[in-house]
Amino acid sequence: MAATVLDGVKISNAIKAEVAAEVATLTVGGLRPGLAVVLVGHNPASEVYVRNKVKSCEQTGIYSEKHTPADTATTEDLLALIADLNHRDEIDGILVQLPLPKQVDSQKVLLAVDPAKDVDGFHPMNVGYLSTQRPGLVACTPAGVMEMLKRCGIATSGAEAVVIGRSDIVGKPMAMLLTNANATVTICHSRTKDLPGVCRRADILVAAIGKAGMVTRDFVKPGAAVIDVGMNRVTDAAEFASFWKGRQGSEKREAEFAAKGSTLMGDVAPEVAEVAGALTPVPGGVGPLTVAMLMSNTVKAMKMRRGNKLATPAGTASSGTASSGTAD
Ligand code: NDP
Repeated sequence: MAATVLDGVKISNAIKAEVAAEVATLTVGGLRPGLAVVLVGHNPASEVYVRNKVKSCEQTGIYSEKHTPADTATTEDLLALIADLNHRDEIDGILVQLPLPKQVDSQKVLLAVDPAKDVDGFHPMNVGYLSTQRPGLVACTPAGVMEMLKRCGIATSGAEAVVIGRSDIVGKPMAMLLTNANATVTICHSRTKDLPGVCRRADILVAAIGKAGMVTRDFVKPGAAVIDVGMNRVTDAAEFASFWKGRQGSEKREAEFAAKGSTLMGDVAPEVAEVAGALTPVPGGVGPLTVAMLMSNTVKAMKMRRGNKLATPAGTASSGTASSGTAD
């Protein structure tokens, strides 16, 4: 039986609708959440991501502003911009779109963001809060995965979870959130021995690798929930055909590849749909949730930092919105 498709677009829209309702309440209370996005240079992929983020702000009623330093910007230029945004009270979230140009010390810039405005959840202070289960801002992509599991009724408590990937922005916080949600978690990476064998233990398998279709059916326990974080652009016709040619339901994708010469796919091979119990599609799975959680984090950052200035109590305005924290 084919895996249930976990619809990230639907869940993302639900989260954004909840955020919009909460923003409306907060605005009535006299405060409007604000997000500043910093986009350095003209990386086409980054421009698309930033456009989506700004559009989501418009949809949810969050104030947004875009800062676009030239690709010749120095570390000092960006530190000055971050310092200014840190000081402005109406800015609740600061997002520095990665990657930054080579001449910029990215770590230094990210570290300069006030942890209270770090809506990406990358600052070591927020990473520490997450690992010690204190309230803080959690990285958007893994937080989105937790929302998806929760809203799709996939139980984490007592489940065996395997995360492939140990990056600071996806793999590690993902593993920490699953641990906090009482899963038994294994983290895998490029040195893991017998990767398929370890993955087959998983009730919940999260792939955050960056290699198209690497997770094949022999990685998956029958009935497992498979969450595909990977986003890979496949342009090679033979590689495309190895995954999609003649596969039932792939007509649209084949037509897209014929027209555009590329397709976006995850780390999970399409054949996994025949083994898994539930599976996120790419596109339309984890990606949309990342942006929704950015909106949710911006509201959360506002409430944590200046919620006491609201005309209505913050507590009454906070019901229903995605938690981005621990889940069970
Ligand atoms: P990184 O490159 O930082 O990390 C990749 C991880 O995968 C590393 O830990 C690496 O191991 C591991 N890995 C690489 N090759 C193998 C292998 N053959 N076997 C086992 N493990 C392997 O990537 P990110 O975490 O930043 O991103 C992962 C993917 O998720 C990418 O496709 C990215 O585009 C996507 N992404 C999607 C988002 C979304 O919103 N949907 C948001 C962020 C990322 P090691 O540490 O040993 O090198």
